[in-house]
Amino acid sequence: MSSAQHFDLLVVGPGSGGLASAFRAAKHGAKVGLIEGGALGGTCVNVGCVPKKAMWYAAEVAEQLGLAQRYGFDVAPGPLDWSHFVSQREAYIDRVHQSYHRRLAEAGITRIAGRGKLLSPRTVAVCDDTYEADHIILATGARPTHLNVEGSELAVDSDGFFALTSQPRRVALIGSGYIAVELAGVFAALGSEVTIVARGGRLLSHFDRELGMELGEHLAGHGIGVLTGARTERLFRDDDGICVQFEGGEHVGAFDCVIQAIGRQPNSDELGLEHTAVKTDATGMVIVDQWQNTGEAGIYALGDLTGPVALTPVAIVQGRKLADRLFAGATGARFEPGCVPTVVFSHPPVATVGVTEDEAVEAHGPEAVQTYRSRFKPMQWSLAGEDSQSFMKMICVGAEQRVIGLHLLGPGVDEMMQGFAVAIKMGATKADFDATVAIHPTSSEEIVLFG
Ligand code: NDP
Repeated sequence: MSSAQHFDLLVVGPGSGGLASAFRAAKHGAKVGLIEGGALGGTCVNVGCVPKKAMWYAAEVAEQLGLAQRYGFDVAPGPLDWSHFVSQREAYIDRVHQSYHRRLAEAGITRIAGRGKLLSPRTVAVCDDTYEADHIILATGARPTHLNVEGSELAVDSDGFFALTSQPRRVALIGSGYIAVELAGVFAALGSEVTIVARGGRLLSHFDRELGMELGEHLAGHGIGVLTGARTERLFRDDDGICVQFEGGEHVGAFDCVIQAIGRQPNSDELGLEHTAVKTDATGMVIVDQWQNTGEAGIYALGDLTGPVALTPVAIVQGRKLADRLFAGATGARFEPGCVPTVVFSHPPVATVGVTEDEAVEAHGPEAVQTYRSRFKPMQWSLAGEDSQSFMKMICVGAEQRVIGLHLLGPGVDEMMQGFAVAIKMGATKADFDATVAIHPTSSEEIVLFG
């Protein structure tokens, strides 16, 4: 043990949160070791945000081709050369990897290949070697949860989606959260027949009630099968493909591809936590306080490993703040959980920040909460003869009408939300929004014209 290499900081996991903390700690002069049990960039870069956004862009182009034809352009939307686009997507990811390789070398961070396992509160084993550190950050992320039903091996997960080498013609998505609705939009825009199998009463159950309902109606209006209250009991194969059977015996199918997107579970089980005082909750999430401290002094955890907000930018902020606190004396530095904006890259996208209407009413009482709504036909859809509408909803509280929630669905809302999130984080009131001159003609002007 005495021959173990010693670091100021060992980071276990090379995903967004791990890399962010390693880079920031090295910038502050710490001697950092990064334990890489998987590809640089973790879920986000390899099997998450980045390749998903690439597929979303391809789907956007397909939709624009459809609009172009209806505008009068002499174009015929055709199929995507899936494998060609996937190779472009993977080349992009390769460039991200190269950039990380270069930056890690420049930062003087020691790279250690293999999975890290705690042997004691200060010692980590990787393959046959051991490493010691004053501080250890656990940032091993999460992996897709799998259905616990007969025939579940017939379904792939989001990792399997990214491994597809050709486009399936008939697709079922089990789940109704971020991944299910995002992949449904991609497949549908690219011409697959799509069915969403949701066990609850609406899509995006963790979002504002109306947002999920509006999205469900929009997707159904564009040919996506949206089955609600459909609890999967079994998957089976018949002569034509894979079928999904529900509780009660009914089934749908056949499909060429079934994707399960029912949440993710933390990678905490093989970390050797039993050799430390680090605790997990019933779902395996590492329990941390607001400073990312675990139950063991000197061991910290962040990102998807700790939940409940499993978003890349959250993990990055947590990692940077923690490194500032540990190595730059920023004693008050920590991630502030409220007011995290997020986008679901569905078609059309959904963007949200702050509380839902139900949460607002529960926290402040119905009298204190005011809501404003707008539904309108975006010009680019209207010009193509489309009837679909965008939806925007603002939630305010108190006599001063402080804005505490904003929920958007429609073209462009993915790029629209960031600036409004700044205003809301700063405590803007509805009067501040109203006093802002609209940009015309845009969709975002609706948000300062609620009336
Ligand atoms: P989500 O948490 O978004 O949604 C999980 C869905 O699975 C819910 O609809 C839930 O239903 C359903 N579900 C859970 N268990 C079962 C079951 N046994 N049978 C059927 N359905 C079930 O998870 P995702 O997998 O979509 O995404 C994982 C996480 O990754 C997200 O929470 C998010 O943090 C992150 N992510 C972020 C993205 C972004 O920022 N754009 C994109 C993709 C992922 P119910 O509503 O009934 O509980």
